[in-house]
Amino acid sequence: MIRGLVQGVGFRPFIYRLACRHGLSGVVENRTDGVSVIIKGDIKTVDRFSNDILEKAPPASRIKSIEVNPRMIEEFDSFRIVRSSNSEEITTEVSPDIAVCDDCLEDLENDTERINYPLVNCTNCGPRFSIIRAIPYDRFNTSMAVFPMCERCESEYRDISNRRFHAQPVACNSCGPQYFYSDCETRISGIEKIIAKAASLISAGKSVALKGTGGYHLMCDAFNNEAVSELRKRKQRDSKPFAVMFRDTSSLRQYCHAGKAEQEQLLSWQRPIVILRQKRPLAEEVSRGLNTTGAMLPYMPFHYMMFRYLKTSAVVLTSGNLSDDPVITADDSAEKYLLPVADGLIGYDREIVNRSDDSVMRLIDNKMVLIRRSRGFVPGPVETGLWVDGIFATGAEQKNTFCIGKGNQAIMSQHIGDLKNFATHAFYSESAERFGELFRFTPRYMACDLHPLYLSTLFAEQMAEERNIPLIKVQHHHAHIASCMAENKIDEKVIGISLDGTGYGRDGNIWGGEFFVADLHGFERFAHFDYVPLPGGDRAVAEPWRTACSYLRKYFGDSIDYYSIPLFRKIDDRDLILVLEMLEEKINSPLSSGAGRLFDAVAALAGLCTVASFDSEPPIRLESAVKKGVNLKYPFSAGEVISFADMFDEILRDIKKDQTDMIPVKFHNTISNLILELSEKMQKETGIKKVVMSGGVFQNRYLLERTLMLLRKAGFEVFTHHIIPSNDGGISVGQIAVASKTIGLCV
Ligand code: ZN
Ligand code: FE
Repeated sequence: MIRGLVQGVGFRPFIYRLACRHGLSGVVENRTDGVSVIIKGDIKTVDRFSNDILEKAPPASRIKSIEVNPRMIEEFDSFRIVRSSNSEEITTEVSPDIAVCDDCLEDLENDTERINYPLVNCTNCGPRFSIIRAIPYDRFNTSMAVFPMCERCESEYRDISNRRFHAQPVACNSCGPQYFYSDCETRISGIEKIIAKAASLISAGKSVALKGTGGYHLMCDAFNNEAVSELRKRKQRDSKPFAVMFRDTSSLRQYCHAGKAEQEQLLSWQRPIVILRQKRPLAEEVSRGLNTTGAMLPYMPFHYMMFRYLKTSAVVLTSGNLSDDPVITADDSAEKYLLPVADGLIGYDREIVNRSDDSVMRLIDNKMVLIRRSRGFVPGPVETGLWVDGIFATGAEQKNTFCIGKGNQAIMSQHIGDLKNFATHAFYSESAERFGELFRFTPRYMACDLHPLYLSTLFAEQMAEERNIPLIKVQHHHAHIASCMAENKIDEKVIGISLDGTGYGRDGNIWGGEFFVADLHGFERFAHFDYVPLPGGDRAVAEPWRTACSYLRKYFGDSIDYYSIPLFRKIDDRDLILVLEMLEEKINSPLSSGAGRLFDAVAALAGLCTVASFDSEPPIRLESAVKKGVNLKYPFSAGEVISFADMFDEILRDIKKDQTDMIPVKFHNTISNLILELSEKMQKETGIKKVVMSGGVFQNRYLLERTLMLLRKAGFEVFTHHIIPSNDGGISVGQIAVASKTIGLCV
């Protein structure tokens, strides 16, 4: 029995080939708990066979254990792959997309039919999730169905000893999909000409829309500031830091600090974007003053081929979409919407069936942590240790993912985005339907957020009513904690600390600075950040100065001379007066205990972000401005309501003393200490020593590492996220875990 990540990654054909090579007979079969192999042969050969399994396993697989049991078996005269009748097998049949492998890169130069064939792939690499329409995973159910195989490809596809045995997207120059280039005037075919054209555009400071695995990207020279800033302008309202693809590891390391774990992850078959500390700057407009860069390495044959021609060693590779819409996948929409943005467009005529963005990771506490879970990871299942079969959890509203339960596995959707956006909402419904088909899933229970107006809530309510099935509503921060518990397979009472921007609270206020005593059934709110009114609601989230104003007014009333503070000298008088009036009259000023808002207010006062130009800009800038090696912190008072009056008082003093640059580090240290102090208090009252931390705030590396250090030193056992995002992208998993307990499903 072989356990680990061994299904849906070409493992059975691999075992088959290996057995044939060793002259062994027997069977291989997918089981719910792994891949079972029964072979007949002498001990020596069987030993060599098992060693080879470990050494030569497909790149996308990860073997946890091989258990060998000798037994008397019936006669086998050949080796066979048995299709198991167990329906659970279905859950793991769809593999994530896999970056091109080394063998295929060599084929680009040596395989006569695949010289410079930019869509070369084999059993060990290539598109999977992005091309599948239905199960079983067979060519006719993928977007390769319209490309009949040529004789040579077909013979490789049928030849068990070949690297392309049953590789569904197998193709070559004569039978496979082809790349094309187009702009307003010309259309070019022929890969060399296309790449030469791309290279000349990039060198000339122009931008190109390029079709990737899960959607289009927009690309330009990462060293040409004008090109990057022009791309930003044309992309409309997009001021997020751009991701960058480097030619190779050595050019990446000239510009970014990448340790061993980070390099391994960059080169892994998932090829995610990894957030790295900058060594030397790229074009200023790439990261906009942050000290980090989202870096990645080539993962499609085209990327490698392109860098052969490019003069630059790094290109901006940002998602091909307009403002907050989902990334564009269809060639006709790309021509319609991206050609006006880019100076040229490069695509290929194989349809992207399932959209996915690049996944994003970051090293925190010496481990890689997922921030956005998409290409390369989806639809890989998450083991929860709970029976979640039949539950559909609809997720949160922002950074949405949904999640379906098969057996004890949670299968999360790709990163979908902000459901308030109309096109994103359509992407959501489409994906929900696709997952139903791909995993033969019919919901028997629905789970959703407590927020009455989230579109994911409305979706769940509608489904529950249509199908007449139970609906379980899960409080947002409870779901955060539960997602972290499910990931770490904890099922007991814990100290749950959930810090994020926003989530609907039981009392109807906005929560987000929450200290719970919780298990998967429910929670008690032990303490929370002080409520502060948000003048203008969402407007306050977009304009951190408003929240800063609100905190100061709350703690110091009319005694504040706003114009003595540099932040408010930048604000129009009328706006400031309006905001103060709103606060006075309690007009459109919902109460929030969101930690994100506290970060906003401090970032604004520290002069780092008056108005946010992208999601989470204030906390990201605040973290970026932390001075390392400083242990100073601010006072606070941690009762049932945690007050920051003393902290703001000292922040104002720091501003007066012209020590504004100390605010970011002192503030971060304060939050770490506050978490420690409250954990100790909760432990004293409850005896619980396990701390679970979740919520978007914990993507902050400095904060999380410092907090972990303090808590561990004090003897706590601390659990955080690694494979599920700690932001709202992980909410669906928390919902599914809580729902499982609420319904009383047993393993
Ligand atoms: Zn390959
Ligand atoms: Fe959240």
